[in-house]
Amino acid sequence: MTTVKAYGAFDSKKPLAPLTIERRDLKEHDVHVEIMYCGVCHSDIHTVRNEWSGNTKYPVVPGHEIIGLVKAVGNGVTKFTVGQTVGVGVMVDSCRKCKSCIDRHEQYCAEGIIGTYNAIERDGSGMITYGGYSKEIITDENYVLNIKETENLVGVAPLLCAGITTYSPLKFAQVKEGMKVAVVGLGGLGHMAVKFAVAFGAEVTVISTSASKQADAQKLGAHHFVLSSTPNALKPYDSKFDIVLDAISADHDYTGYLNLLGLNGKLLVVGLPEHQPKVHPFALIKNRRSIIGSMIGGIDETQEMLDFCHEKKIYSEVETIPMSYINEAYERMIKGDIKYRFVIDLSSL
Ligand code: NAP
Ligand code: ZN
Ligand code: ZN
Repeated sequence: MTTVKAYGAFDSKKPLAPLTIERRDLKEHDVHVEIMYCGVCHSDIHTVRNEWSGNTKYPVVPGHEIIGLVKAVGNGVTKFTVGQTVGVGVMVDSCRKCKSCIDRHEQYCAEGIIGTYNAIERDGSGMITYGGYSKEIITDENYVLNIKETENLVGVAPLLCAGITTYSPLKFAQVKEGMKVAVVGLGGLGHMAVKFAVAFGAEVTVISTSASKQADAQKLGAHHFVLSSTPNALKPYDSKFDIVLDAISADHDYTGYLNLLGLNGKLLVVGLPEHQPKVHPFALIKNRRSIIGSMIGGIDETQEMLDFCHEKKIYSEVETIPMSYINEAYERMIKGDIKYRFVIDLSSL
């Protein structure tokens, strides 16, 4: 076992605080990663605050947008060598034998994924997984990503969750030139969705509750901006879009956003608020609309997205913070006061 410095939460009400955790001994196919950066996802907050059906196992060490350097590899590792820059995203294992795993959609594993944090390892050890708010992680090479980028590593970290979570559904919906895409919720996920939809050639509209984000939306490449916080603001956009991508972290209803979809339009749901949203069936049957949920992406697709971003120079817009700033960062995220992803510099821990 290796004792590692980390930051975590001991219950849903207290601020995150320093702690030490144990990382397992290096197994045959393990990669030992010294963590440089870790992005801060709203899922970290949902988990710390136990907002998802009370499933949080305390103490929890969040963080699943990890960039680091390989420090050591197990005897059987073939994909990575010491000194290489790598990434670890939202999952660190899955059953590897169900249809989803074999088809490389491991995120939909029939037995459920092993999350990078707040999960129990599959190896029978009973160990709880701890995420990237820590100095080091030891994990299986098959769930580790290769990072080609050398310059802007801090801007790459959020791709491991915010990036793949928006890339995957936009690809699935075959977003391309000539399509009208609306992105609702311009946060960590939303701003990546804008960048990808623009890169795929779509006409992109940001729908936001924050007037202060209008100029940014344009800088991110969006063609239009709609402020949704006034009554009837969305009315003129009835049936106007092919795709609406919902990246909202707070409770809300789907009906208003479904109404924005034209014939065969799709509401791509990635935001995961605490409570169930309302859906009016009339909003669904009109224009034969559908709601499609999407969870991160498979390992191959994540690698494809990272390589695509490297080639097109697509990065997340980030504010780099020391580990000790995490509690303020959470408060600011909840207020929507972040443009657009906090990334922790682990050298500060
Ligand atoms: P974030 O950076 O905090 O952004 C959330 C955005 O939601 C905010 O910027 C804000 O955008 C909007 N928003 C907040 N409160 C709102 C309200 N009351 N009404 C309407 N809009 C509101 O969060 P994130 O990290 O992007 O994560 C977004 C959601 O996706 C979270 O629920 C997270 O758990 C989930 N998630 C899902 C997956 C998946 O696999 N499906 C993966 C990662 C994260 P505006 O200021 O523009 O209104
Ligand atoms: Zn995430
Ligand atoms: Zn599986």
